[in-house]
Amino acid sequence: MLNIVLFGPPGAGKGTQSQKLIDQYQLIHLSTGDLLRGEIAQGTALGLEAKKLMDHGILVPDEVVIGMISNKLDANKGAKGFIFDGFPRTVAQAEALDQLLNSKNEAISSMVALEVNDDELEHRLLLRGKESGRPDDANPEVIRKRIHEYNNKTAPVAHFYQNQNKFKSINGIGSVDDIFQAICKVIDLC
Ligand code: AMP
Repeated sequence: MLNIVLFGPPGAGKGTQSQKLIDQYQLIHLSTGDLLRGEIAQGTALGLEAKKLMDHGILVPDEVVIGMISNKLDANKGAKGFIFDGFPRTVAQAEALDQLLNSKNEAISSMVALEVNDDELEHRLLLRGKESGRPDDANPEVIRKRIHEYNNKTAPVAHFYQNQNKFKSINGIGSVDDIFQAICKVIDLC
C-alpha cells in the first residue's frame, strides 16, 4: 500500500494537491477537515460539537478524529493506499495512526510537507474565504489562531516522521503543477 501524509499549515495547498494525487496514484483521500464539515452539514451531534471549536480555529479532540479515520480505514479495505490530509495534527494522532496501520500490517510510506511562510498563508486563506464560504477562512483572527495551533501542536508531528526517516519537505510556493511534480518525485521513490 502507498500511504502518504500530506503535511503543512492551513492554506499550504494540501487539498489542491490531494485532488491531483488521488488521480495520479488511485489513492483514497482522507481529509479530517472534510469529514468534520460533512458531519456539520448533516447536523450530527459530533458535527455540532466540532463546529464550536472549528469556528474558533481550535483543534477538535484527538479521539474524535482518530475514530473517524479508523472507520474510514475499515470501510476501504481493498484500497491501494491513502492520502492523509490534515491528519495527523498532533503527535498523539500520529501514534494512533501508526497503531491503526500496524494492526493491519501496514505503515505510512512517507510524509510530504509543503513549506509556506505565515504571511503567504494568511493572504491565501483570506482569498480562499471569499469563495469557500468557510467561516474559519473569513476571519483574520481565526486564521491566525489556526496558524498558531499549527505551530504549537502540529509542527512537532514532523519530528515524529523525521525520527522514522519518512519526512520530506517541499517548497509550497510556486505553480500548482510544479509543486505536484515535486511531490510525485518523492512518492515515486517510496
Ligand atoms: P482543515 O479543513 O484541515 O483546515 O480543518 C478545519 C478545522 O477542522 C481545523 O481548524 C480543526 O478545528 C478541525 N480539524 C481538522 N482536522 C483535524 C485534526 N486532525 N485534529 C484536530 N482538529 C482537526
